[in-house]
Amino acid sequence: MVNMNDIVGTHDIVMITLDTLRYDAAILEESNCPNLCGSGSWEKRHTPGSFTYAAHHAFFGGFLPTPADTDKASHVRLFHSRNTGLKTHPNTWLFDTPDIVSGLAAEGYRTVCIGGVIFFTKKNPLAKVLPGYFQESYWRMTFGVTNPRSTEHQVNHAIKLLERTPLDQRLFLFLNVSAIHGPNHMFVPGARKDSVDSQRAALRYADGELGRLFDAFRQRGNPVFCLAFSDHGTAYGEDGYEGHRLAHETVWNVPYREFFLSPKGQSI
Ligand SMILES: [Zn+2]
Repeated sequence: MVNMNDIVGTHDIVMITLDTLRYDAAILEESNCPNLCGSGSWEKRHTPGSFTYAAHHAFFGGFLPTPADTDKASHVRLFHSRNTGLKTHPNTWLFDTPDIVSGLAAEGYRTVCIGGVIFFTKKNPLAKVLPGYFQESYWRMTFGVTNPRSTEHQVNHAIKLLERTPLDQRLFLFLNVSAIHGPNHMFVPGARKDSVDSQRAALRYADGELGRLFDAFRQRGNPVFCLAFSDHGTAYGEDGYEGHRLAHETVWNVPYREFFLSPKGQSI
């Protein structure tokens, strides 16, 4: 496993939530996602929250999705708050603040949020809470769930910010990808309903756009640690369930990956 103490302070950190992506849909598309899965497979994990708001509070508190196995000893956390009285692993990075975003800011990181789904729109007080964790947050209509080119617009914005970030400034970039969240049937020509198939098509689309973001980070030349995972899945009628904010395996199983983006010409 990675040692987060070797990463914080030296690496740019990118956290991408692929909002609503089901684990089974991610696995079925693995070979068609060279940018997210080029260096390995999705890991099966359990989310700490069944919908966006709950899950992201947990993530920003340092509680990422948990490995979907019964071996507790293998559940080493990347982030943990300091002075809880609990025993922590030597590879875990400890933070002194209420959350990892302000913890990374305290280490000198510029913290940036690029929002996607409704909880990041900043249009009402509730939708300002999650972006409020960050020093800077951005949301446009074109980043939202109804725009069929949302990831393209989000990535364009991220690249612009990246170009304006000095090389010696460490960056924590959080991106909530909205494309896979409903409605996603527009990614399958002629489809009228969201389904696992339309999620898969939306994921292929998002992966293609994320490749441009990863290339921009590689060009920048700093080492990058990237976390990509879903905040929760969603049910499409299984056992009578529809949607999320409920407890069902289609919701609590999520795909998870962590990988390094090497500067151009190098491998880590
Ligand atoms: Zn969500």
